[in-house]
Amino acid sequence: MDTQPDWKGIIGALQKWRDTARTEGRRDNRDPSVTTVAERYKQDPWAVLASTILSLRTKDEVTLVCSKALLEKAPTPEALLALPEEELLRLVYPAGFYRTKAENLRKIARILGEQYGGKVPADMEALLALPGVGRKTANLVLIEAFDMDGICVDVHVHRICNRSGWLSSRNPDETEGILRHILPRKYWKGINALLVLYGQNLCRPVSPFCSRCVIRAHCQRLGVEKSR
Ligand code: SF4
Repeated sequence: MDTQPDWKGIIGALQKWRDTARTEGRRDNRDPSVTTVAERYKQDPWAVLASTILSLRTKDEVTLVCSKALLEKAPTPEALLALPEEELLRLVYPAGFYRTKAENLRKIARILGEQYGGKVPADMEALLALPGVGRKTANLVLIEAFDMDGICVDVHVHRICNRSGWLSSRNPDETEGILRHILPRKYWKGINALLVLYGQNLCRPVSPFCSRCVIRAHCQRLGVEKSR
């Protein structure tokens, strides 16, 4: 794209769409599950980190149920380490790749105890060094648990940004790197929640609802072969 996207217009239209959906009580007013968990556990960093790990490749509804069950029994890293293996597996079972996630959670709990006094570090590099923690997870923890600036890029954010022609990138990490340059900082924290909702409801991966799109004027619809 030769010119910069009109971020003010884009974010404003998306916020208005979300607010209208909320007022009308429609399905698309749900916040992504980790945001909901963060609110429920009052921004507790361990709760946000654990639920973010559980949320990877798992539906929001399942993440919520699973996080609640796990955090009731393991509200701290120390409590998780005390859980018998079988019980930990049972608690995280509904989540996809539950065995790997259980193993990573146990390793993370151990590292937090040994290196960080049982606390989650508010530091990108330290978070990225934890098993199973990628940039998406690290950003989400920094944003939701520590109220720090970050841009959480998942498949929805990556797809919509490229499809619209706001940027051109090969993967979510690259998208994050570019957004850090072109997106005004005041929009960093909020863009994930907006685009995840939009991607789940309107700008779907296959056959997006372009006829009902509130940001169509800002979108080049690159690679969109079929739409509704
Ligand atoms: S116009 Fe279509 S492809 Fe572009 S953002 Fe809207 S729904 Fe997505």
